[in-house]
Amino acid sequence: MAAQAPDFDAIARLIEGARTVAVCAHTSPDGDALGSELALVELIERTWPEKRVVPLLADDDVVPRIYEFLPGVERLVRAAAFDGDPDLFVCVDLSHPDRLNDARAVLERSSRVAVIDHHPSGEPFWDAGVVRPDAAAAGVLVAELALHLGADLTPTMAQNLLCALVTDTGRFQYQNANGEAFRVASALVDAGASPSEVALRVYQSDRLSYLHLSATVMGRITTFEQGRIAYSYATAADLEANAVPVAECDGLVDIVRRVDGCEVALFLKEVPGGRVRGNLRAKSDLDISAVAREMGGGGHPAAAGFTVDGDIDQALAVVLPKLRALYAVDGADR
Ligand code: 5GP
Ligand code: MN
Repeated sequence: MAAQAPDFDAIARLIEGARTVAVCAHTSPDGDALGSELALVELIERTWPEKRVVPLLADDDVVPRIYEFLPGVERLVRAAAFDGDPDLFVCVDLSHPDRLNDARAVLERSSRVAVIDHHPSGEPFWDAGVVRPDAAAAGVLVAELALHLGADLTPTMAQNLLCALVTDTGRFQYQNANGEAFRVASALVDAGASPSEVALRVYQSDRLSYLHLSATVMGRITTFEQGRIAYSYATAADLEANAVPVAECDGLVDIVRRVDGCEVALFLKEVPGGRVRGNLRAKSDLDISAVAREMGGGGHPAAAGFTVDGDIDQALAVVLPKLRALYAVDGADR
């Protein structure tokens, strides 16, 4: 943790040297993306009140319903509608410019770039950054930046960051839920974050139509490789029939991973533009991020994603053999 101090200092110097700062998280934002971004914006504004800070959304789309409760969410500006050229662009929860969608143009118009992320990154394209894949969430790093700067964690920052941690660790149930995540969470609750409100808004506020779609997805779960691989899917027609927006389907992969004995879970859904979005999860120490990368996406060893052209059948035809191959390499009888 101390090792990141010089990089936090370098990020702080970039902020000090900027008059306008844009902050943006990845396309299809999740709880970590939004919570980390909103907390970082508040941190910058409180530490450097003279700066003009713009929180951007990478996509020309609404914020998923379950994250509408996050403090400051109403301030988010769609990058497609933003024509400024900031002195500094801060990427949070991403370290690959491809994941910026419309905000990539803003990044390219910005003088300097900083990155705060926990994904395994590609080529550094930033002037200063902290990228630490062993951090459970980008929110962990934003909380540590606040501590490093000696800033108070306000209740609103704490709430945003707790949402980041809770969602990226699957309610502290995934392999990334390490001691650091619990220590930061403890500090956030002490600073005024409400775990019960996060749980209520994110996990106990499903619309009935979403639950009906979940039932369809659950009914279709198929396993193979002696039950070690499980998958399911939702077609565009399923989403339409249940009136569920694509952005609200992020939790469906968690239904697939519930199967006892399954080590790899795959959920596919058809998204606009004749494409299929895939979510991959590993329950064992198998690394599924390589499969996501081969499919043109990326992510962490235990949680990764991709988007490909085609329909569900076409996507399955490509990705299932790659999942099977994980076992061929590892030996047939793991
Ligand atoms: P999810 O399946 O929840 O969309 O993503 C799981 C993890 O993989 C997240 O950390 C996410 O940021 C990463 N990820 C998902 N899709 C992509 C992608 O297309 N490219 C890259 N580089 N990472 C992705
Ligand atoms: Mn994250």
